[in-house]
Amino acid sequence: MTLTLSINNTQRLQLNPLEMPNRLLLGPGPSNIHPAVLQAMNTPPVGHLDPTFLALMDEIQALLRYVWQTENPLTIAVSGTGTAAMEATLANVTEPGDVVLVGVSGYFGNRLVDMAGRYGADVRTINKPWGQVFALEEIRAALETHRPAILALVNAETSTGARQPLEGVGDLCREFDCLLLVDTVTSMGGVPLFLDEWKVDLAYSCSQKGLGCPPGASPFTMGSRAVEKMQQRRTKVANWYLDMTLLGKYWGSERTYHHTAPINLYYALREALRLITEEGLENCWTRHQKNVEYLWEGLEDLGLKLHVEREFRLPTLTTVCIPEGVDGKAIARQLLNEYNIEIGGGLGELAGKVWRVGLMGFNSRAENVDRLLETLRQILPL
Ligand SMILES: *Cc1c(COP(=O)(O)O)cnc(C)c1O
Repeated sequence: MTLTLSINNTQRLQLNPLEMPNRLLLGPGPSNIHPAVLQAMNTPPVGHLDPTFLALMDEIQALLRYVWQTENPLTIAVSGTGTAAMEATLANVTEPGDVVLVGVSGYFGNRLVDMAGRYGADVRTINKPWGQVFALEEIRAALETHRPAILALVNAETSTGARQPLEGVGDLCREFDCLLLVDTVTSMGGVPLFLDEWKVDLAYSCSQKGLGCPPGASPFTMGSRAVEKMQQRRTKVANWYLDMTLLGKYWGSERTYHHTAPINLYYALREALRLITEEGLENCWTRHQKNVEYLWEGLEDLGLKLHVEREFRLPTLTTVCIPEGVDGKAIARQLLNEYNIEIGGGLGELAGKVWRVGLMGFNSRAENVDRLLETLRQILPL
């Protein structure tokens, strides 16, 4: 008997050992991985219930609390990408019929809408053109109208490059007795976040953007008001894998087996977080801000316009308007194929209108800005 291996059902390939190009990842994520993180990931794994691994999980929890500035005991890494952690926030606190209000001003707001609906929520939205943010008065008016159980906002809308300010939103949510759920996927590590001070009840992130880690181990946190809502559920959490009443026992003192942790990814995450503490969280935020301002200046010197008003621009992701008459896709393809630089294109309302340039984590460095600007200077027909 012959065993067959066919790819695309047409070719029979002789597969060589893995060889991939060395790209500079300046898109909306993933970003490049710090060499120390890659090295940590190569450490031979121990068992997922090994005492040394359990100690490492404790360290990850402490480090995540630091980077988010929270004291929530239930702060963990979800095994999965940012979307899994996103789903974990909604799955644990949403019961059928709950009103969930979502601020939609980009692609990821829409994803929250879709997800909340799948958990039986009565989903309402407030909307803004892509690239703009909600003012506090607009949020207050919407809370008054909809009286939601949960308000969900995207702090860093990666599809637009806009930063939704959170100061004061938590107080409003307490006034209207609702939970505040925040997407910090593209802000964690690169943008100042003070979850406890801002009274955020639930938040999630990912590993492959501001933390400079491979994808697959995603920060999740839940404060006491959210835990209370979860404990008072009339129905079981509809997602077994992401059920915090079970997962909390693996990460908490019981250490009950739940699923096999992606051990090497946790090694990577621990090292990436350790690097942030070594640099100092505030220094890390400052570095992101400084390098992105350097990028903005360089892009404007090339005659390019930026999509988001300066005050609300993200330090981690910049949306650049594609000039009239320039084929945005062709430029991105040329950057990738000829110069090994990845940048992103626009989504939804911004499709064909912008490029998305990420400077996240280890990638937020002046030399990367120089390399991109120099290349654009060569290939843009300006
Ligand atoms: C990338 C991203 C996600 C999804 O994370 P994945 O790791 O791709 O699953 C969610 N929200 C925002 C704002 C993102 O940028």
